[in-house]
Amino acid sequence: MSGFDKLQTEVIGAGLCTDCGMCAAVCPRGIVVMDYDIEEPRLTGVCHPRCQVCYMSCAGKDIPVPELERMVFGRERNPSQELLGICREFRKGQSTEDKVRVAGATGGLISGLLIYALERGIIDAAIVVGMMEDRPWRAMPRLATNKEQVMAAGQSKLQMVPADAALGEALRQGFKKLAVVGLPCHIHSLRKMQLARNATKLAGCVKFVIGLLCGGNWTHKATEHVIDEVCGVSLEEVAKVEYRGGEYPGNFRVTTKDGRQVSVTSPVRRNHCWGFRHDRCGGCFDYSNDLADISVGDYHHAEMVRGVPGWSAFIIRTSTGLELVEAAQAAGYVATETIEEEYLLTGAYEWKIHGSSYHLEERRRHGLPCPDFHLPLTPGPLRRRLPYDHPHFKA
Ligand SMILES: Cc1cc2nc3c(=O)[nH]c(=O)nc-3n(C[C@H](O)[C@H](O)[C@H](O)COP(=O)(O)OP(=O)(O)OC[C@H]3O[C@@H](n4cnc5c(N)ncnc54)[C@H](O)[C@@H]3O)c2cc1C
Ligand code: SF4
Ligand code: SF4
Ligand code: SF4
Repeated sequence: MSGFDKLQTEVIGAGLCTDCGMCAAVCPRGIVVMDYDIEEPRLTGVCHPRCQVCYMSCAGKDIPVPELERMVFGRERNPSQELLGICREFRKGQSTEDKVRVAGATGGLISGLLIYALERGIIDAAIVVGMMEDRPWRAMPRLATNKEQVMAAGQSKLQMVPADAALGEALRQGFKKLAVVGLPCHIHSLRKMQLARNATKLAGCVKFVIGLLCGGNWTHKATEHVIDEVCGVSLEEVAKVEYRGGEYPGNFRVTTKDGRQVSVTSPVRRNHCWGFRHDRCGGCFDYSNDLADISVGDYHHAEMVRGVPGWSAFIIRTSTGLELVEAAQAAGYVATETIEEEYLLTGAYEWKIHGSSYHLEERRRHGLPCPDFHLPLTPGPLRRRLPYDHPHFKA
């Protein structure tokens, strides 16, 4: 059975594919393409019957977190790190340049770090996510090689995107020093690819990994639904879609070809999206991107109100992450300050981790396919509670 046959049976056909795109990146024959309509990979050629490369790098079904932690950190998490994984420091950060910050989702921290790394030659390209030219509401991975391209790809795209697939394209174009930005599921497959050691050239190109926190994601149908149903704009009229357009926290904003703008707030967008949540996200157990060099999310502090300059909250996990942040700060690209751990724990954490434990238990009980994170999944109420007595939760 070829690796892709196994993916088809155990992952794609079982509803466990995260649309990460890694199978397309690593296939030595280049015969895997990502199908943007169904958000899954498709085979376009004939496999070598003994090839297992794509299967070994796929984290759709099997995510051996302890083994991956040993590879990345040299050790596994201890019980006190159950909530957010192995962490060195908690900080808030933002780009020091206003236009980079406003082009970003929260503080533009990620864009600031990527611009620094590109301009200093630490990387020659970054894997980011932009929009398609012919369908400007549909996200796709892109390679950014300069500041303008990084800024154009700023902000969260709240839909499934096979970002890892761009790694294969980066290699084909001859790039040798890459930064990867991705959701936890992108980073799971990236780390599995590094562990498997059967795509060593690709693995050797990755200089650092920036993870996004992820409370869950939606299929691209959610975006189409909101544009049409809530904004009252037909897809043919769309020129641009932003999920967090404008100053913090930004709005879902559609610009039409004749220059009209329609905005809705994030809570309104979310309310209309729930039915379109990607099925695999319900059993996902990584909120804080536990295998990245740094993990970045919203800064949920009382001072963060509409219109104030935004900050991103982030976790520094590795020495690579620490060196990057310190150097970018010393060079004046980003500003950072220490914050308490509690600011990384949000309502999304609660429904992601506690909810996923419950969801996975139920799926197992009914004999349905489940991703295996190799972590103890006790039912929600038995896991450590969130720090509800902290001012962050009272604000
Ligand atoms: C689906 C999704 C769910 C999220 N859920 C949470 C949450 O529950 N809690 C929380 O605190 N934060 C969450 N975030 C992260 C948050 O929205 C911001 O992305 C984060 O704070 C970084 O902001 P920034 O201004 O520093 O980044 P920016 O400077 O705006 O850079 C963001 C980078 O992320 C890349 N990117 C955007 N969308 C995607 C995508 N779909 N897949 C891969 N890469 C992408 C962009 O290309 C860009 O390089 C989520 C993000 C996404 C995409
Ligand atoms: S590698 Fe990613 S895209 Fe490919 S089958 Fe696995 S989860 Fe899906
Ligand atoms: S990596 Fe190997 S098994 Fe997977 S699709 Fe390519 S040739 Fe087939
Ligand atoms: S919830 Fe999990 S599977 Fe879904 S997009 Fe986020 S990291 Fe990926």
